[in-house]
Amino acid sequence: MAYLGIDIGGTKVAAGLVAEDGHILKEIYIELQNTDNNAIDEAIAKVTSELTGFTAIGIGVPGTLDRANKTWVKASNLHISSWSLNKWQDKLGVPIYLENDANCAALGESWVSNKKDLILIALGTGVGMGIVINNKILIGSTGLAGEAGHIIIYPDGRDCSCGLKGCLEAYAGGWALKKYHGQSPKELLQNLHNQAAQEAIEALAIGLFNIATLFGLEEIYLGGSIAVNNHHFIQSIQESIQKKYNYDIQLKIGQTLNKAGLIGAAALCR
Ligand SMILES: [Zn+2]
Repeated sequence: MAYLGIDIGGTKVAAGLVAEDGHILKEIYIELQNTDNNAIDEAIAKVTSELTGFTAIGIGVPGTLDRANKTWVKASNLHISSWSLNKWQDKLGVPIYLENDANCAALGESWVSNKKDLILIALGTGVGMGIVINNKILIGSTGLAGEAGHIIIYPDGRDCSCGLKGCLEAYAGGWALKKYHGQSPKELLQNLHNQAAQEAIEALAIGLFNIATLFGLEEIYLGGSIAVNNHHFIQSIQESIQKKYNYDIQLKIGQTLNKAGLIGAAALCR
């Protein structure tokens, strides 16, 4: 028995058949030329024709969900508009689950690393967070629990994409690094002594310290394209938290690396 996990991002779709112990049996990647409803439908059609033999499907997406109606409402940077799962459920005849991508990443990491309580911060284009408590994703009554990218780090600070000022994401999100410093996060974070990297490290140290204090954490998992393969950056944030706030925290890159979203999407089916 296998679950099909589909992780939809702004530039590509990663999909895989995942076994009951969490390991990936077969995976495929589809580059997205477009991110509207049609492009997503085409990608799902391709995935479900190439990967077969699954009993359920889990899909992880960025942005806003309407869980009750199984609808992906919208996502910043993507051209999605109220994309409904119902037609796919009818067509494929298996249960399909939809969840936020950072929540999926946390669930995937908790499954594979066998931890029933886990917090994962995803550092990519935006800053997301997934909270898993007792093997379940915490969504809160608004459905938006874990929006770590929009906790305020500097009151009246830099403009954020959400309309507020001084959010964590406005200093540490990939979009903000590009907007405010004119370079890709990868270029900027190679040299940790430049202003952009220093600002990102400082903002993340404040944000992660607050989150660690709130939840009483000894470790926080990190995922996403900015965190994975960026050991010095992560190390600097950890040292900053220890030095400035005298708080002993381990910042860890999960075992699932950049596959957490895919594995976590499949984990929705369990
Ligand atoms: Zn914001």
